[in-house]
Amino acid sequence: MIVAPGPAAHAAVPAGAPIVWVQAGHAAPREPGYRLQTGAGAGPFGAETGFTTRLAGRVVARLRAAGIDARATPGRVTPLGARGAAFVSLHHDAPGGRAGVGHAIAGTGENWYRGEGLGAGRPHPYPGSAPHRPATPVTPAVERRSRDLALRVASLLRAARTPARGARAPWGGVEPRDGNPRMTRYHGFHRTRASARVLVEAGAAGADDAFLRRVDPIAAAVARAVRSHLRAMARR
Ligand SMILES: [Zn+2]
Repeated sequence: MIVAPGPAAHAAVPAGAPIVWVQAGHAAPREPGYRLQTGAGAGPFGAETGFTTRLAGRVVARLRAAGIDARATPGRVTPLGARGAAFVSLHHDAPGGRAGVGHAIAGTGENWYRGEGLGAGRPHPYPGSAPHRPATPVTPAVERRSRDLALRVASLLRAARTPARGARAPWGGVEPRDGNPRMTRYHGFHRTRASARVLVEAGAAGADDAFLRRVDPIAAAVARAVRSHLRAMARR
């Protein structure tokens, strides 16, 4: 499924506005080497991409309405290696059924899997790993800015995840440096040159279906966090 931004996504933004990349996790076309990682097969919209494409469109629209040059990208990071103020990958399939936020870690590489994305991730290729596109580095400065953005997303997403809205899954907060490698060594972090790079697990398919179905409070939390991060970075 191609990410189809709505009319609002094309709202004019000021020249020189910060560029923010918003990725609908797992949306086709997917990244070479990870093409079989199609995401959760359940959730409020039937599959994870039903959620990630909806959420990405709304985050882009909210950011553009705020004068930020937000641009959608599918699973295959497009364009490859682009600069920007932030890269935000959207998901609802954290292992263990938790919600949380991962960010890029300096000095690490991406996960390798068997073939086009099967089996357990590890830091170096399997004999049968499909080729990857070239990787961009994560510097200490990128990690610092990524952590800042992750903390802001986590704070606002946690506040949005109320029982009244149907949030039921455990909250994992910001993934630590040595945490789940699917969230800390995510390949998308290594296909962009954005200054801050995060991965949002908005919730868990099943337990959080009622919450995830709302989409808008999640889009509002993510967009507010990005705006807050951009303001903080502009002050430094
Ligand atoms: Zn996912």
